[in-house]
Amino acid sequence: MSIVIVGAGLAGATAVTELREKGYSGEIVLLGAEKHLPYERPPLSKGFLMGEQEFDEALVHDQAWYFDEDVDLRLGMLATRIDLASKVVHAEPVGGGEPLDIPYEQLLLATGATPRVLDMGGGVGPSMTLRTIDDSITLRKSLKPGAHVAIVGGGWIGLEVASAARQAGAEVTVFESGDLPLERVLGPEVATLFADLHRGHGVDLRLGSRPTPADLSGADVIVAAIGVTPNVSLAEEAGLAVDNGVLVDASLRTSDANVFAVGDIANQEHPLLGRRIRVEHWDNAIEQAKIAARNMLGAHEQYDRQPYFFTDQYDLGMEYVGNVGPEGYDHVEIEGPTKVLEGDAFRAFWIRSGTVVAAMHANDWDASDVIRDSIGTAR
Ligand code: FAD
Repeated sequence: MSIVIVGAGLAGATAVTELREKGYSGEIVLLGAEKHLPYERPPLSKGFLMGEQEFDEALVHDQAWYFDEDVDLRLGMLATRIDLASKVVHAEPVGGGEPLDIPYEQLLLATGATPRVLDMGGGVGPSMTLRTIDDSITLRKSLKPGAHVAIVGGGWIGLEVASAARQAGAEVTVFESGDLPLERVLGPEVATLFADLHRGHGVDLRLGSRPTPADLSGADVIVAAIGVTPNVSLAEEAGLAVDNGVLVDASLRTSDANVFAVGDIANQEHPLLGRRIRVEHWDNAIEQAKIAARNMLGAHEQYDRQPYFFTDQYDLGMEYVGNVGPEGYDHVEIEGPTKVLEGDAFRAFWIRSGTVVAAMHANDWDASDVIRDSIGTAR
């Protein structure tokens, strides 16, 4: 049997690992458009961006691993078309070269996402986005004492860049169109703590407005952190069902029985949440990839893990489990003191109809299991 994986990111490389760990000894082709070995992206806005971590530490495996495990790793190779009827992936080297036709019996799509770009019209210098190691290397060079860094978007990436930039001594302005950063995910009760954290560290946080060209004119670097779009064109052009991501069932199978999709692109029918969800987080990429790999080998497992993410900003580390979803929550219960600037540790529980639907901790690493186990319990 031959398995082809398109996308040599975290999910793609994790699937390869799981296939070999489960004893699959057949052919594996892993296609990646980037020229780098598969790597984890969280350090790109944290330790690596701050110069505290080397790129090698972010790699899923070193080069020797792929050789030892007999993985046909094709880097700098873009999949351009999938023929579902004849089960062939067409690919070509990035920058030109001989095209390749790669037959498969099982195909896994793990093509990730692309950041949205900022469209300010004329009069504003170029802005950058942060998705790849090359972006992070470029941005790192700009984070110097006294440099003016403008960040558009107060989501996770925008705030992590703000934290790195302040710690490098740069002057930072964050423009967030909502009333609070992270409000859509956390709600006002906890989002306000993140606003306090950043203001306390000297970030000029401009809320409820979009930047004008004049606002951005003095910036040495403009970072657009306004969300991502899942890379679905390959799947869509092949005729797979796509709607805000590649549609997959609970076992991560697409509308074609021989094709699975995982990670940032997968819009999954989630058995516990009872609705579709597409999750753009590290844990989801890893855990979905493992299940899809086992299902490609004949298992019949469902992916029913609660969404999870983490962030590190300044001295604050947090983990969040669950998903409030479109139904929202009735109230939040916060346990513990919340002066995050002073390093307080606390736990928060989002409750709907007397049941915990999401939970997080800040600076309380003993609480990882507690918050996970709390989901679905009465409170
Ligand atoms: P990706 O990692 O994006 O990998 C997809 C790969 O597929 C890419 O290398 C791409 O080039 C390749 N590809 C795309 N199309 C093709 C094609 N046609 N042919 C060949 N190759 C192709 N999550 C957290 O939970 N916590 C964090 O703190 C956190 N921090 C983050 C910080 C940054 C800066 C970024 C960018 C993301 C962060 N994330 C974090 C999110 C997490 O990294 C992603 O959810 C995860 O990388 C998704 O994995 P993936 O394999 O689906 O996609």
